[in-house]
Amino acid sequence: MPSIPQSRFPSGPSPIPLHVAIIGGGITGINLALGLERRGISYTVYERSPGFREIGAGIGFSPNAEEAMKLLNPDIFHAYKRTANPNGEDKFQWINGLTDERLYSLSVPKDGFLGCKRSEILEEWGRLVPPQNIQFNKTIESVQEPGDQGYNPSEASGKILLRFTDGTHASVDLVIGCDGIRSRLRQHVQSHLESSSIQHVAKESYTHKYCYRALIPMSRAIEAVGQHRALTRFMYNGPGAHIITYPIGNNSVLNMLAVISDSNEWPDEQRHVLPGNKDDIRQAFKGWHPTVQKLADLFPEENEEGGGPIVKWGIFDTLDFPLPQYYSGRVAVAGDAAHATGPHLGAGGGLGIEDALILAELLEKVTEIQASNGSESELGTDIMLERALYEYNDFRYARTQDVVSWTRKAVDLFQWKDENVAKDGKKFGRLVKKLFHQVWYDLDLHQMVDWSRGRLEFDVLERALEPIEREARETLGGDSLSSLSDMDSEEGDYRV
Ligand SMILES: Cc1cc2nc3c(=O)[nH]c(=O)nc-3n(C[C@H](O)[C@H](O)[C@H](O)COP(=O)(O)OP(=O)(O)OC[C@H]3O[C@@H](n4cnc5c(N)ncnc54)[C@H](O)[C@@H]3O)c2cc1C
Repeated sequence: MPSIPQSRFPSGPSPIPLHVAIIGGGITGINLALGLERRGISYTVYERSPGFREIGAGIGFSPNAEEAMKLLNPDIFHAYKRTANPNGEDKFQWINGLTDERLYSLSVPKDGFLGCKRSEILEEWGRLVPPQNIQFNKTIESVQEPGDQGYNPSEASGKILLRFTDGTHASVDLVIGCDGIRSRLRQHVQSHLESSSIQHVAKESYTHKYCYRALIPMSRAIEAVGQHRALTRFMYNGPGAHIITYPIGNNSVLNMLAVISDSNEWPDEQRHVLPGNKDDIRQAFKGWHPTVQKLADLFPEENEEGGGPIVKWGIFDTLDFPLPQYYSGRVAVAGDAAHATGPHLGAGGGLGIEDALILAELLEKVTEIQASNGSESELGTDIMLERALYEYNDFRYARTQDVVSWTRKAVDLFQWKDENVAKDGKKFGRLVKKLFHQVWYDLDLHQMVDWSRGRLEFDVLERALEPIEREARETLGGDSLSSLSDMDSEEGDYRV
């Protein structure tokens, strides 16, 4: 990799600090906030709920997500460790749901891929965000950039104008939409892309799988399936359905997720959560081994979070209608807003944390360049921010789209689309290992950080040199500047 010249940026007066808006305070938004906090970058989180809130039982974070937490802000990692449940065994094990035989056992790193209660981890992380940096009950209504219809320069003085449904507004330098699978910011990004790059409206679509989630007191779970099965991560596979179980809450609760295939369309695109019923679960696992039927029986009749019948969650993703890129101008999307994925590889939350890491690092790089370059530079902060989002997209797009598609492959495997493979422990294991290892180990986060920062600096340097190059070309004539142009051809070296 070519070394990045540091000394080309002349020092100058301190630039005006940039201010970032993070829309949405879910896993991605909070992690980004804490990453910026660590790097001394000014930000506000705008969250539509009255507080940080996560519904839906447990979540597990993969080894790469843990690494991303450490790099983003070690406090994120320590908070996660405080709420994470110890592994019974450092293994993830797959059981043939019809026979109760073990199909495959995947080693996880020591004390890795731990489960935790969503509400607890969000609360822990939320506590780390200074209250003055969060505004709750703020639902974004529209985003206007300079040049947009209705943009009023005197209201926003060249910045991006955010309007909220409560009639208030804010102006910021950069917007990161972490507003989840039904993202408003995704629409904004798409509406600002060149029409030639748009083949469809980017949106989430039903994957023909839905799920039921439950938290079962550990004593009941142990009574049903025994201590060994209740205290370690297991998945029970079979035709058209699977159940995953792992302990959370310091072994006080068994987190259960039953995923069921569905040939119908999802009845209500506006609502991903609908009333379900327990017979639906019993029916899906009818005829399976008694262990699985006992697990199915543990699901409650009633919705534990809001009363009424137990709810079923449609599993949607963005595989069929993806955004062609994750940013336009100085507005980007991250986490589920950019690339919503099913839960089957336990990767969606981790991808959002990886996104947060690279965004925080690139924005830190912008501030470093600003500091050494001064406010009188040829290159304004706005352009540097756009270049940062360009690099973010370049480093994240292929990886995240791949994970969305691997997740679809994983659920086909777990639900025996090809029975010959699914029942053969060796073949099944080979594929399972490959799928998880691709998510966990195929991305070198340290390299992603180093290369993206280096590329941004290189881009900025190139842009800063453009006028000098132009002037020199005019003075000296065409080809004598080959050394500058040669830098272009080395760009590929920075890519992951
Ligand atoms: C059943 C299931 C199990 C899963 N298990 C795992 C797992 O084990 N491991 C894993 O890594 N991933 C898992 N995932 C995926 C993971 O839950 C998601 O990828 C992750 O929660 C996405 O986080 P996010 O912050 O990007 O989006 P969200 O969590 O959806 O957060 C978006 C936030 O934005 C706010 N918001 C939305 N619109 C607006 C607006 N207009 N204005 C202001 N605020 C707004 C919302 O209130 C919300 O707080 C699972 C998913 C499911 C469905």
